[in-house]
Amino acid sequence: MPPGLFVCGAVGLVCARAGGGADTEDRPLETPSESPSPAAREPVSERVLSVSGFSKSYEGRQAVDGLSFEVSAGEILGLVGPNGAGKTTTLRSIAGILPVQQGRITVCGYDLAREEYRAKACLCWVPDDPQPFDALTVVEHLEFTASLYGVADWRARAEELLERFELNDRRDSLGGELSRGMRQKLAFCCCWLPRPHLVLLDEPLSGLDPRGIRSAKRAIREVAAAGTGVILSSHLLELIEELAARILILDQGKRVFMGTLSEARATLAPEAGGSLEEIFMAATERPLGDEGPVR
Ligand code: ATP
Repeated sequence: MPPGLFVCGAVGLVCARAGGGADTEDRPLETPSESPSPAAREPVSERVLSVSGFSKSYEGRQAVDGLSFEVSAGEILGLVGPNGAGKTTTLRSIAGILPVQQGRITVCGYDLAREEYRAKACLCWVPDDPQPFDALTVVEHLEFTASLYGVADWRARAEELLERFELNDRRDSLGGELSRGMRQKLAFCCCWLPRPHLVLLDEPLSGLDPRGIRSAKRAIREVAAAGTGVILSSHLLELIEELAARILILDQGKRVFMGTLSEARATLAPEAGGSLEEIFMAATERPLGDEGPVR
C-alpha cells in the first residue's frame, strides 16, 4: 500500500494501512462487522466533526496538545499555523490514520475509537501529496473508491468528475504515470465521488495549474453548499480568506484562535490592515530573535 494513500476514510482496512512510514503507528485492522454504513449519504448530524481534548505526541514530543473544535455541516473551516504546528497530525488523526492517543473524535456522531468503520465511512481525505496505486488506472481508482464506499450509481458521477477535473483523456493512465497535478486532481475526484459528510483537505491546491485551481475552488464551495463540512488546511492565506467562514489557528500544537475572520480581526489585529496575514502574524508572534540570526 503506497504511503499517503488518498482513497481513505471508507473502511478501516484501507485507512489502517494508509500513510505508512516512520510516523504511522499501524492500527489493528478493524473487522467491519457493521454493514456498509449508509452514513455517507444520509445526513446523520448537523455537527459533522467534534474534536475534544485531542493530544498526540511522537516519542514523547508533543505535536498536538488538548485541541478541541467542531465543524458543522456545510461549513468550510480554514486550518492554519506555522510549520510544525500540528495541522497534518490533526488531519491524519481525524482520518483515522494515526491512533487517537488522548481525547475524543467523533465524525457524524460516530466515535472514531469505538465505531471506526462508521466514522470513516462519513469522511474523505486528500493528503498533501496523493499517491495513487501504480497498477490501477484513473477510472479504476474511481471504481475502487465507489466499491469501498458503496456508491451504486458511480459511473455517471465519475464521468462528471473526470470532465470537471480535466482527467478525461487520462482515464486509462495508470496511477504511476500521472504528474503531480494529475494525482491531485484524481484525489479530488475520489474524494468527491461518495459525497462524504466531511472532507479533509491538506494543501489541496499544490501542484494544480490555474485551471485546476479554479475547478478545485469551485468544487470546494459547491460541496460545502451541498452540506459537506470541509477542513481546509493551507499556508495560502488568501485561499483561506476567500473560502473559509471560520478559521482555526494552531501554534506549537495548541489552538491559539478559533472564530470568524471578523472576530479574528477584532481580537488579534485591530490596528493592522486586517488581512489574514496580519492576523496570522499576531496570533503566532514570537519574541524577536527566537529563530536566531541568519548566518
Ligand atoms: P507543516 O506546515 O510544516 O506541514 P504541520 O502543522 O502540518 O506542519 P505536523 O506535520 O503535524 O505539523 O507536525 C507537528 C509536530 O510533530 C512537529 O514538531 C513535527 O516535527 C512532529 N512530527 C510530525 N510527524 C512526525 C513523525 N513522524 N515523527 C516525529 N515527529 C513528527
